[in-house]
Amino acid sequence: MSSRDDNQQWRLARRPAQGWPTDGDFELGRTPIPSPGPGQMLTRTRYLSMDPYQWGRRRAGLEKPGEVCHGRTVSQVVASRLDGYAEGDFVFNTNGWQTHGLTGEGISAFGYMFPRKLDPDAAPLSTALGVMGMLGLTAYSGLIVQCAPRRGETVLVSAASGGVGQVAVQLAKQRGCRVVGVAGSEAKCTHVVQALGADACVSHRDPAFAEALADACPDGIDVYFENVGGAVFEAVLPLLQRGARITLCGVITQYGNMDGANPRDAWMALGQPTFDRQGVQVHDLFVGNFVEAHQARFLEEMAPLVAGGEVTYREYRVEGLSRAPEAFAAMLAGDNFGKTLVVVDEQG
Ligand code: NDP
Repeated sequence: MSSRDDNQQWRLARRPAQGWPTDGDFELGRTPIPSPGPGQMLTRTRYLSMDPYQWGRRRAGLEKPGEVCHGRTVSQVVASRLDGYAEGDFVFNTNGWQTHGLTGEGISAFGYMFPRKLDPDAAPLSTALGVMGMLGLTAYSGLIVQCAPRRGETVLVSAASGGVGQVAVQLAKQRGCRVVGVAGSEAKCTHVVQALGADACVSHRDPAFAEALADACPDGIDVYFENVGGAVFEAVLPLLQRGARITLCGVITQYGNMDGANPRDAWMALGQPTFDRQGVQVHDLFVGNFVEAHQARFLEEMAPLVAGGEVTYREYRVEGLSRAPEAFAAMLAGDNFGKTLVVVDEQG
């Protein structure tokens, strides 16, 4: 429920404890809607992105108790004193978990993503949080830029039905690869094969997962798009071909651990961020490093594919800002099916 009269916002209630989010980690509050100062604009949140990295920030103490929870958003400008933006414009920005936010001078937005104006006629606005946004760029950067898959190679993508995974699967198919997905249910696996075009998909919940994965990859694995770690990582290792490339996009199985270990240690123990061990290369991936050099080309390449339906996408929509913690926990648990977003105020 969003009100036009005040700013509804979720704040971090405490530094998260061991494990996964619980209701007590967040508190809902209201403040007056702020007015933009010089060089700022006020925007109303339309869609809020739920991303695994948000949990990492909270656990690491980068987000402090009492602060508005961080999150990428698609918003509409309400009032602007920022050059280049006018009332009514749509933008990709970082309002966080709140119905209204300021963007511009003096407003911290956590790093590398500056506001980007969106054309509502070019693609559905919500795609700026997924296939036409950071997640699409993540798939593109990890798969195409870092791993350069070749026609006929076997590409494995974990969390294949999720926000990043669904784009990676389709990009690999377009390059003429044999693509195998890993997902958490039969329904997701069916979607990965039938809607995304993968050649096979294996459920990591299958008790015989390692054998099933080996069967699905009879020629081994040339490229692995790592999103999860854990048991999937263990099953992948013996299947890696000489010369295999791995993009270390994420290790979601580790995000609930509070043992002080770097979640990426499992891969990094094999060597340096980029290393060569029996011809296997591991590339650490941080999408922020690819925005300047690759975002424009990526969006140019992706726009007609999405518009023409050659690249499809699935969203897992949760209605209402009040349900943001629920959506966040569902995404981390794998109860989502597609890119997870909260619909805050779709009609404006
Ligand atoms: P997803 O939409 O893929 O949602 C997370 C998925 O993780 C769930 O749907 C679930 O899929 C899977 N998952 C959860 N627990 C497990 C488990 N125990 N074993 C296997 N799979 C599990 O999220 P995103 O697309 O937003 O993110 C995917 C990955 O990409 C994350 O690791 C994230 O941190 C990373 N990322 C990295 C970036 C970078 O710059 N390096 C930028 C953006 C994202 P299922 O039901 O199929 O198991």
